[in-house]
Amino acid sequence: MTTSSQDWARRDVPFFRPSIGEDEQAAVLSVLESGWLTTGEVVSRFERAFAERVGAKFAVAVNSATAALHLAVEAMGLRPNQGVLVPTHTFAATAEVVRYMNAVPILVDCDETSLFIDLADAAAKADAARKGVLLPGLGPIDVVGVIPVHFAGVMGNVAGMKAFAAEQGLWIVEDAAHSFPAAWRATEHSPWIRCGENTGNVTCFSFYANKTITTGEGGMAVTNDADVAARIRLMSLHGLSKDAWDRYSGTGSWDYRIINAGFKYNLTDIAAALGLAQLARAEAMRTARERIARSYTTLLAGNPLVASPPDPPNRLHAWHLFPIRLRLDRQTADRDLLIAALGERGVATSVHWRPLHLHPYYSDTFGWLPEQFPTTTRVWKELVSLPLFPSMLSADMEYVVQCVHDCTVGRPGALAREHLRNDNVINAAAER
Ligand SMILES: *Cc1c(COP(=O)(O)O)cnc(C)c1O
Repeated sequence: MTTSSQDWARRDVPFFRPSIGEDEQAAVLSVLESGWLTTGEVVSRFERAFAERVGAKFAVAVNSATAALHLAVEAMGLRPNQGVLVPTHTFAATAEVVRYMNAVPILVDCDETSLFIDLADAAAKADAARKGVLLPGLGPIDVVGVIPVHFAGVMGNVAGMKAFAAEQGLWIVEDAAHSFPAAWRATEHSPWIRCGENTGNVTCFSFYANKTITTGEGGMAVTNDADVAARIRLMSLHGLSKDAWDRYSGTGSWDYRIINAGFKYNLTDIAAALGLAQLARAEAMRTARERIARSYTTLLAGNPLVASPPDPPNRLHAWHLFPIRLRLDRQTADRDLLIAALGERGVATSVHWRPLHLHPYYSDTFGWLPEQFPTTTRVWKELVSLPLFPSMLSADMEYVVQCVHDCTVGRPGALAREHLRNDNVINAAAER
């Protein structure tokens, strides 16, 4: 046994494992025993605790971040055929909620370093959309909002985004699915501003199973605007009058009124109990992820073929993801083959994301071309998200680093293309 990879005992490292302890189990059990399973007092407590935690006046708990985003753009008054700036470097949900309203997601390129929405490109795309010269077949579009995504858990430039939105007359609905708990400050002498602390008109968080805190499925919309909060709450439960909510908690009247054709997006007390227990441990879990992320960065610094994600000053990073970038300019290795080779070694990874403009729905429906997003089109092929979760052992992290090293740097067993003319690996890559 002479190759470096064989000096290391093989381990199986999952991409993510939720951190569910006795507190979560006890909290859920007590709701099950209470006889009240759906939206009630525990949801109200979760909303109050979450609003306080992020520094927002109002919070509405719903059953996903997608629901929160949908309700947020609805509450901002988005109308059919209006345009909303959405980064192409994001998950399906960010743009699909614009389509739910029969409006047009105007896809925008990302910044080379932060991978946050590129505000220069946003301005150019908004301008072209208003003039009706952005896409064939689309006339002049009334551009009304922007949905920035705080990628991987690090906040973008909040002041820059607000200035841009003010200049362009846009509302901001933040996709904060990755960024709880996260914070931003302009300089080291400025106060910290938490994600959700009036960082947008509405800020939407996700409690999906692999997010930084989880309720299985769940989400939260926070805002400082009482009318927006009331609209989101109304539409989250069939558009029923406020009495209906009281009715749900057992104190209101049977005689509610349907005020609008709303949705069925409410969260259960079972999920909220899980959320309250997770909220209590959110900072401890964030610190655990931060420790692993920083060790990754230190150990990967020895590998010239990969770059760790940025950890800029004046940010409190939620560390939802650890997306490395392959230095494709310095090697022949291919991202998809690296993923397959890591998989063969027991290391589960993911890619965040295939950009929206490279999905058939968006390219076929709107005619977006890769050249309209030069940075994202190039960068997404360099991205691989490594395992990162609070209970990850140092030995797991070191094993992942070793495997990345073996698969890139050209040691015995490394991932030069010629080493991979191996049917298993090629087939596994082809299936992705
Ligand atoms: C996970 C995720 C969502 C959707 O969250 P759900 O709670 O599953 O609806 C939206 N945007 C981004 C960027 C995400 O990563």
